[in-house]
Amino acid sequence: MSPDLLTGSAPTRARFSFEVFPARSGAAALALGHAVQHLSAAGPDFISVTYGANGSNRDASVDLLKYLRDHTDALPLAHLTTVGESREAVRRAIHGIMDAGVHDFLALRGDPPRGRTEADPEVSGSLSALELVELVAEARAERPALTSVGRTAVAAYPNGHPLSRSRAEDIEWLIAKQEAGAQFAITQLFFEADEYLSFVADARSAGLRIPVLPGLMPVSTSAQLRKVAQLAGRPAPGLLAAELAEAGGYAPELGVEHTVELARQLLAGGAPSVHLYTFNRHEQVLAVLRELDLLTPSPLG
Ligand code: FAD
Repeated sequence: MSPDLLTGSAPTRARFSFEVFPARSGAAALALGHAVQHLSAAGPDFISVTYGANGSNRDASVDLLKYLRDHTDALPLAHLTTVGESREAVRRAIHGIMDAGVHDFLALRGDPPRGRTEADPEVSGSLSALELVELVAEARAERPALTSVGRTAVAAYPNGHPLSRSRAEDIEWLIAKQEAGAQFAITQLFFEADEYLSFVADARSAGLRIPVLPGLMPVSTSAQLRKVAQLAGRPAPGLLAAELAEAGGYAPELGVEHTVELARQLLAGGAPSVHLYTFNRHEQVLAVLRELDLLTPSPLG
């Protein structure tokens, strides 16, 4: 991981990282194996692996983390969620991931399981991301030989978490995660550079010191754009939606174009790095990085 990302100081050259999710079939696993070889060859700071998101199998996340550790040069970073789990089960999961040789975590509360809502006691009673940051620190302390290994990241919401009532509350909560030991944050998706830049500026004024990595996803389809709009909590840009619709709902190059423009504005505005949601494909995110001139020639081409 680059020192710039950890210190928050101005990087000499912008960096990047990727997110992947466990495959849900044998064929998808083969395609993912191919994609992560290309992603790893690009030299990211890390590749993060989602956990239980959208009902995916949690064991599959650990298998994918092990695959990244054993078969690529990339640093694996484990998303970990607490939703629906006891403190002891979460503690065991942390140790299981560390036993697999993975020491970097993105500490999350997690999405409500399918069919549950935020109001469900199983969801509202789950450990928070802040408590998970503390649990990860405790687990590291139980392994003194490894205390200097591994970082803990947390999520940030430039357009506000659905549960929060105000930006001030979101920032206060993010600073509380920093005080609990989080070393950097990764944002939820958003469409406009100012949504990220104004959030980070306000958070810095309130005392946030850790780097905040903007999360970006080059969409390929109209359906993906609708999903991103839902996550971002904002309507999709009208022009992008119209152009995608005009192209028959599928136009990967439009997603690349939009992400390149957004990333340029973010990096010019001081973002330390870009975190790219890959949707388990390498072509689009590598095209984005190529356009931004962030790729050195890869042995895989
Ligand atoms: P928390 O930080 O615990 O809190 C969520 C919000 O609730 C806060 O923003 C705050 O407004 C409010 N809140 C909670 N407790 C307090 C408090 N004590 N005081 C004040 N406010 C409080 N989900 C998955 O299931 N698997 C994944 O792999 C996954 N990966 C993600 C990766 C990224 C980069 C992001 C941004 C999200 C990801 N999610 C994932 C979704 C995430 O888990 C959900 O958005 C979840 O609803 C909130 O998780 P959190 O870690 O932000 O929770």
